[in-house]
Amino acid sequence: MKLFPSAMALRCAACGHQHPLEDLAWRCAACGGVLDLAGFTPVIPPASVLAGRPATLWRYAGALPVAEPADISLGEGMTPLIGAPGLPGVLLKIDYLMPTGSFKDRGAVVLTALARQLAVRRMIADSSGNAGTAIAAYGARARIPCEVYVPAATSAGKVAQLRAYGATVHQVPGSREDTAAAMQAAGQPGTFYASHVYHPFFLHGTKTYVLELWEQLGGRLPAVLVLPAGNGTLVLGAYVACRELLTQGLISQVPRIAAVQAAACAPLASAFQRGLAAPDSVDSKETIAEGIAIARPARGAQILAAVRDTGGTIVTVSDDQVHAAHAELAHAGLYVEPTAAACWAALRAGLIDTGPVPSDRPGAVVPLCGSGLKSKPPTT
Ligand SMILES: [Zn+2]
Repeated sequence: MKLFPSAMALRCAACGHQHPLEDLAWRCAACGGVLDLAGFTPVIPPASVLAGRPATLWRYAGALPVAEPADISLGEGMTPLIGAPGLPGVLLKIDYLMPTGSFKDRGAVVLTALARQLAVRRMIADSSGNAGTAIAAYGARARIPCEVYVPAATSAGKVAQLRAYGATVHQVPGSREDTAAAMQAAGQPGTFYASHVYHPFFLHGTKTYVLELWEQLGGRLPAVLVLPAGNGTLVLGAYVACRELLTQGLISQVPRIAAVQAAACAPLASAFQRGLAAPDSVDSKETIAEGIAIARPARGAQILAAVRDTGGTIVTVSDDQVHAAHAELAHAGLYVEPTAAACWAALRAGLIDTGPVPSDRPGAVVPLCGSGLKSKPPTT
């Protein structure tokens, strides 16, 4: 049975091969490339029409590729936008107030809505923590059994959260890449790989971060979007949203994207500086910004192309800078996980040029992506 408009499909970014959504493909069957969503035309209503809608990301239903699952939603989205401590013209978007404590809920709810429409029997996911907990929560809500693979070093708080939602947790020794490999080896027919990295529906969820910003700023976007970049789910979602807003004539210019990586694991920043089209080969060292320590991001080429298309940049921050930023945010009442302080660290260190602050919009918006309550406390 065809559940979706016949034009909607997953299309390989490398070779163009198309896969029906019902096939549960997570990468191209022909060449192994990453899949994008094709055959879908989003519709973003003008701000005046949005004003009366419920304060969740489902207010943009016409822009999302799956219908609102009323009994799955946890009221996610429309997170606060507040002033930043000591930096006029910069705003913080408080995404750690999402239902499971991170921005990943944006993608997870959209992906889980798809999983239920496809009547999958089981979801599996691999994650450094937050994406897995988001999938596990919405999976519990949708009554779809979940198995989540995490690196053995994942914080006890995140593992406890996963188990509390009822997920089966597999703790894999080694790197984040070892975790992904272990999970991909465990796939079975009828299992939905609910991947925040590979499945493009996830990016159509994270794009609501920018749709909300646009609406909260009165139909504008800041000069610069500062965004964390590990697997780039927020960078790519933000870029998709910017392009859609531009295509629909709702903005006149795409903001520059300034992506931030941890210096200990920066394949994208290195490639950006060297002019490469794909992520550089790097050794991943330990960092307190564990959530963005991704040595081989599967969508790396797309991230580099997106940042370059906006005239943006990719910078790195040291653990010392992240520590200082984390402490500064906490002293301003904002308790985030260390990874979530990386963007603030880059701005504070003067690594991102926000230019003169425009008169009608912020110079930059920084997301605070993950709660500090479930992460390992910083060691200093
Ligand atoms: Zn392909």
